Amino acid sequence: MESVIIIGSGPAGLTAAIYAARANLNPLVLAGGQYGGQLMLTTDVENYPGFPAGIMGPDLMIAFREQAERFGARVENVDAASVDFAHRPFIVRTAEQEYSAKSVIVASGASARWLNVPGEEPLRGRGVSTCATCDGAFFKGKHIYVVGGGDSAMEEALFLTRFGKRVTIVHRRDTLRASKIMADRALAHETIDFIWNAVVEEVIGTTHVTGLKLHDLKEGTRRTVDADALFIAIGHDPNTALFRGQLDLDRAGYIVSPDGTSTNVEGVFVAGDVYDIRYKQAVTAAGLGCRAAIDAERYLEALEFSVPVSP
Ligand code: NAP
Repeated sequence: MESVIIIGSGPAGLTAAIYAARANLNPLVLAGGQYGGQLMLTTDVENYPGFPAGIMGPDLMIAFREQAERFGARVENVDAASVDFAHRPFIVRTAEQEYSAKSVIVASGASARWLNVPGEEPLRGRGVSTCATCDGAFFKGKHIYVVGGGDSAMEEALFLTRFGKRVTIVHRRDTLRASKIMADRALAHETIDFIWNAVVEEVIGTTHVTGLKLHDLKEGTRRTVDADALFIAIGHDPNTALFRGQLDLDRAGYIVSPDGTSTNVEGVFVAGDVYDIRYKQAVTAAGLGCRAAIDAERYLEALEFSVPVSP
């Protein structure tokens, strides 16, 4: 029987592991086949405190993992395949094994949506990005394109005006999905322009992004434009398929939590982007992981001292 199983190994999961390990809970981390979360897909991380010269995303996650393992966390590179939170102890299954646990911390993260067009994958980290906060500063004085018509796209575009000489938003319709306040800000911004009713069909470049192939959906025409970077802001999907029917999820599939750590199942906690639709930063995910581990520790302590009520 495990005291605590942590599902996920991004900044939230591994910070939870550091805290749980230091509380002598001997946590088991089901890190996923590809551990480390979204930072494994980024290059330089310049906004994680403590690294004035920046650090590569994968190096940061290796350091998180080493720190968790140093205190005794067991990190297994396997995916959780199913869970049963309806009974106690809780059950977490992988393809090979079944584990039982007194408490679980869900930190399975979210995945940015990609366009899935030619050129996008090979140029990730070379001009193609899903995170302006992470990568915007690399494009000072450049022409930056943003895809999407929601709040994320407006926010990314507004942020990118700090760096780009021009920011062009490509949206597949002629009306924005974004809230009025965000849309108005972007529409009024002097260095932001819009290409309406268009989609990016291909990202062009060999070592870095040099252009985009655009398809005008209204006219049916295609053209190639010069571009230095493409930020894709078409939403994220929380990695919660596993928890459907087990935990309360909101309409977008994020885990519902009244306080940012507890869930509707006592003893199951949540941390990071699988809950946090608002900030989605490594440092906030790490903070949420810390909170979840402290709350799990308190929960386990209370369990230990609870006296069974006789019938
Ligand atoms: P979203 O609201 O779902 O918007 C996604 C946008 O991407 C839509 O405009 C959609 O076009 C477009 N899109 C989706 N798939 C596409 C594809 N394959 N090709 C081209 N375009 C595509 O997602 P979001 O902007 O990430 O926002 C998610 C939630 O977080 C929202 O509730 C939002 O309000 C909230 N949020 C709030 C803030 C803030 O308040 N500061 C900031 C960020 C996010 P269509 O419009 O045609 O569907």
